[in-house]
Amino acid sequence: MSNGTRYQVLALKYRPQKFSELVGQEHVSRTLQNAIASGRVAHAFLFTGARGVGKTSTARIMAKTLNCAVGVTPEPCNECPQCKEITIGTSTDVFEIDGASNNGVDDVRDLRDNIKYLPSHSRYRIIIIDEVHMLSTNAFNALLKTLEEPPEHVKFIFATTEPHKLPVTILSRCQRFDFKRVTLTKIIGRLRDIAGQENVTISDSALALIARKGDGSMRDSLTAFDQVLAFCGNSVSDEDVGTLLGTIDRRLLAEISAAVFEADTQGVLAGIKQVDLVGYNMRQFCQEMIEHFRNLLVIRSVKKPEEILDITAAELDELNKQSLHVTALDIQRRLTLFIKAESEMAYASFPRLIVEMALLKAALLAPLVPIQELIEKIKSLETAAVHTPSLPWEASRVVPAAVSQHVEPHSAVTSRPAHPAASPASPPESSGGQAEWGRFVAFVNEKDRQLGSVLEHGSPLKQEDGLIEIGFPAGSYYLTAARDAEFIADVQGLACTFTGEHTVIRVKSIETGFADAPLSLAEKKKSDAEQRREELKQEVENHPVIKEAERVFGCSITDVREF
Ligand SMILES: [Zn+2]
Repeated sequence: MSNGTRYQVLALKYRPQKFSELVGQEHVSRTLQNAIASGRVAHAFLFTGARGVGKTSTARIMAKTLNCAVGVTPEPCNECPQCKEITIGTSTDVFEIDGASNNGVDDVRDLRDNIKYLPSHSRYRIIIIDEVHMLSTNAFNALLKTLEEPPEHVKFIFATTEPHKLPVTILSRCQRFDFKRVTLTKIIGRLRDIAGQENVTISDSALALIARKGDGSMRDSLTAFDQVLAFCGNSVSDEDVGTLLGTIDRRLLAEISAAVFEADTQGVLAGIKQVDLVGYNMRQFCQEMIEHFRNLLVIRSVKKPEEILDITAAELDELNKQSLHVTALDIQRRLTLFIKAESEMAYASFPRLIVEMALLKAALLAPLVPIQELIEKIKSLETAAVHTPSLPWEASRVVPAAVSQHVEPHSAVTSRPAHPAASPASPPESSGGQAEWGRFVAFVNEKDRQLGSVLEHGSPLKQEDGLIEIGFPAGSYYLTAARDAEFIADVQGLACTFTGEHTVIRVKSIETGFADAPLSLAEKKKSDAEQRREELKQEVENHPVIKEAERVFGCSITDVREF
């Protein structure tokens, strides 16, 4: 920025002039260079991707390699007249057209007339159409005719941010390259190079702020850098960058999120005050907070977060430290609150208030244990409800203060689900045989605990006059025990007493998977417990207090345990 010299914006001054200078699109460069080296260059290319990631720069580099006086080489020489003309945009054989402003059929007809002629002093006539999706339907049709039978000396390069808007007929005739968003680390690397060349003193964290502002676009990052340099000159402080770009200092985000996890409400509100003082947009701050928590969640959830997150190594270190003492679930519950707040802010007149409420809620989120206690309490009330119908009033008594403030009293009363006793889920006592068997086993248990414990694992196959046939799983310990002559004699004796008539006990082996055998008492107990558990879970899930708790805390039930 020497005096008198016209300042050239960085995006132009440092525009890549060869493939090796293209940042973040190595996959494109490699394929194009291979095509050039092998002499198999398509006649139409489509470059897609977000704005400012290098599509038109690549198109120009490609044009130079094709027309370079030195020869068709993987890199242009950038010295010959052809290269130089393309760089400054004066080549008579390279047409750069903006699809947005030249989108009519006449423009395309002019173009078609133009390309009929051989190049004046290059190998090819090269047509670069930027924002090609903006062309009208008629213009596309006119273009298609040329694309179907392109003259040997013509190459097309189309660039677009919205490839889905292109007709399939065009898409199918182009070799397509998808340009990626440039990663934060690569943008920072490039900015650091440029800062060096421009003799600018700036910290890595300030460069990260600038790169983040660019959001994956090299051009937007360079524009942000221009803005910073215009204001700060050659010595740039972190604070200036934050204020200038309206980006939030990562440290402030880290401080506020630490306050959230420490339930430090004072710290949370002081942090938001700070955000407001420097004039940040509250919704943007909320979005940054969401991204911050999302980063924490990823770090807590995967083994190699660096492969997923677009952050610098220093930021990763910092986030790692922060995530040490929190669980993924803790982060997730808070993240849900912020996402909800963010969507509410779109229509809110008091965005700061919404952020404050969300962060306070997040800070005061009860740890998971009390929620389980809540479920336990409700469960015990469910049991009580079988005897007393006045549960709703009791329910409002056990709800923790945080919840009860939000529960409309009548909603707790009116939407009470039917209590378990009335639910159809508990089956009626099955067959008379099962009941009789149950009584017999209970009788045996009373007389001889050891005999009874074996019988509990047997299925009553037959209970006729004078005969009880009991099945045990083949190969089981119980089958062996039951086949013992002494066991049979003892049980037979008890059976006679129980039925009042002479009874024969027969023990059979049941093949596993023999579905027709009635459940043994032990199996029945287990299956009843499972059913009970399922009912309990549904009861808890449907309970209005729990639903309200889920809504208020932004959480969900992961497990229901019976105590
Ligand atoms: Zn050249």
